[in-house]
Amino acid sequence: MKYSKVIIIGGGPAGSTCAWKLKQNNIDCILLDSRKFPRVKLCAGWVTPEVIDQLELSDYPNIQLNANYVNFFGIDKKINSKSYAIRRYEFDDWLLKRSGVDVYHHKVLKIKKQDGFYIIDNEYKCEYLVGAGGSHCPVYISFFKQLHPRNKNNLVCCMEQEIKYDYKEKASRTWFYENNFYGYSWCISKKNGYLNIGVGGLFKDKKVNIKEHWDYLVKKLNELNIVKNYEFEPKGYVYFIRDRVENCKIDNAFIIGDAAGLATKDSPC
Ligand SMILES: Cc1cc2nc3c(=O)[nH]c(=O)nc-3n(C[C@H](O)[C@H](O)[C@H](O)COP(=O)(O)OP(=O)(O)OC[C@H]3O[C@@H](n4cnc5c(N)ncnc54)[C@H](O)[C@@H]3O)c2cc1C
Repeated sequence: MKYSKVIIIGGGPAGSTCAWKLKQNNIDCILLDSRKFPRVKLCAGWVTPEVIDQLELSDYPNIQLNANYVNFFGIDKKINSKSYAIRRYEFDDWLLKRSGVDVYHHKVLKIKKQDGFYIIDNEYKCEYLVGAGGSHCPVYISFFKQLHPRNKNNLVCCMEQEIKYDYKEKASRTWFYENNFYGYSWCISKKNGYLNIGVGGLFKDKKVNIKEHWDYLVKKLNELNIVKNYEFEPKGYVYFIRDRVENCKIDNAFIIGDAAGLATKDSPC
């Protein structure tokens, strides 16, 4: 059985940042992820200046600074704020490599606690366990779910696609509360000719046909001459945004990032 003092499950930004910090402090740590990197992660990839500072991203080569246009209830406005865009496909891989920890390709299924240690699928053993597996994190499911159930009112449903497209304008565009939808749609330009297009919003016990809102966005992008006649194949995703976050540690198990429900309303959707 492979032993490490700390095992992190999940190599997204939460897990890789945790790994990076532990490594900087010479703490023995490995990371497990079910996917091979680089991997696609549905996300608009819009980051704030605080992220650039806190993650010390001045060396990261693929950030684009965009002009920021918003449309609230049909009114267009240019916002004078810094709007940075990255592609999660590249960004997560870069962060994970930068962390410098050993990464194992392993889908975690079963975790048990035994004699003060955490045993993962009878293959990995640790003293401290960090759950960074996103919305369906196995650490959350095994140890936190009962104490910290998720609030169905905070369930977000999204559809998204990132495409290579010849679009020269450096811009982030968002349209809020259109078409009787409690959410917003976006079109965000990325470095090297990529566009991220999506729509997401809260269910709040309402039946929402997200595909209808996606189609509405595609029609608008056609009309605005932003993306013309493109055969999209979007993917859907659901996750929970922030509610209460007081239980992020039980014994030596921790949850971070989406596993802890830390995404806020303004991180698209
Ligand atoms: C459509 C959409 C748009 C978004 N746009 C933005 C945005 O513009 N800006 C923003 O800040 N946020 C945005 N978000 C939110 C953001 O994507 C998440 O908050 C962020 O990815 C959370 O990072 P994380 O590291 O916690 O989890 P994730 O990035 O989800 O990483 C979790 C990792 O855990 C791995 N994993 C999961 N289960 C297992 C298992 N059983 N065994 C091993 N590994 C496992 C997965 O493979 C994955 O690599 C968006 C989300 C969506 C869905």
